[in-house]
Amino acid sequence: MKRKLLVAGNWKMHGSLKFVDGMMQELNDMLPAQRNYDVAVFPVYIHLHQVINNKPAQVLCGAQNLSEHDDGAVTGEVSAAMLSDLGCDMVLVGHSERRVMNNESNAEVAKKFAQALKYGIQPILCVGESSVERQSNQTFDVVWAQIKAVIDEVGVEKLGQGVIAYEPVWAIGTGETATAEQAQEVHQFIRSQLALNDDTIARRIRILYGGSCKGSNAHELFSMPDVDGGLIGGAALTAQDFMAICQQADILSQGV
Ligand code: PEP
Repeated sequence: MKRKLLVAGNWKMHGSLKFVDGMMQELNDMLPAQRNYDVAVFPVYIHLHQVINNKPAQVLCGAQNLSEHDDGAVTGEVSAAMLSDLGCDMVLVGHSERRVMNNESNAEVAKKFAQALKYGIQPILCVGESSVERQSNQTFDVVWAQIKAVIDEVGVEKLGQGVIAYEPVWAIGTGETATAEQAQEVHQFIRSQLALNDDTIARRIRILYGGSCKGSNAHELFSMPDVDGGLIGGAALTAQDFMAICQQADILSQGV
């Protein structure tokens, strides 16, 4: 039995007040109110309020990061309590761009995951290998170490309250998508490893694919038995491209 698909748009450091206005208008016009799949968008912090106030009902809104600290002298950071106060539903943790550019370690990402749950925000844990790691057959080890760090921090039951996004780094923003079989292989690996810890959580947790996903490949990717939707970067920046992916989720969710 497939889980409910989730199409999540990561806007990264793109947009403006005008962009958000336009996107909200278009999503309100284009997204069907009745859906059997979930949709979420992830703007930069300073656009969260505007999205939350103008998004279509039932579209979820999330932040792209959060602090591992509750509050205090942490200049420039945003806490889980602040995100929760605004009405954020979700938050990305461990996006590969942050792991690389901000040197976020597995342990730090795990703390952020815990912090999100503590304040009732659903974390999406991003995991994935670099091209060098794939070429040297380390994909499974790298991905499992990223997930294991979260299990060590919060336990497998709490991991199950989040979502996992498998995003091979070599496929992010490169136009080079993992084949549906490559994605399925890693998703299946993750689920089988989780099953060794807790079979129910392994079957229940949503695992998204991310990396140059677009309208033309979403159907094939989301059809895979262990792929439960996508985390979308570039193709989430125009309503038309994002809707093309949502339409594939819609087709696959008919009758579910
Ligand atoms: C991402 O950054 O999470 C992502 C998947 O980007 P893109 O779709 O542009 O590859």
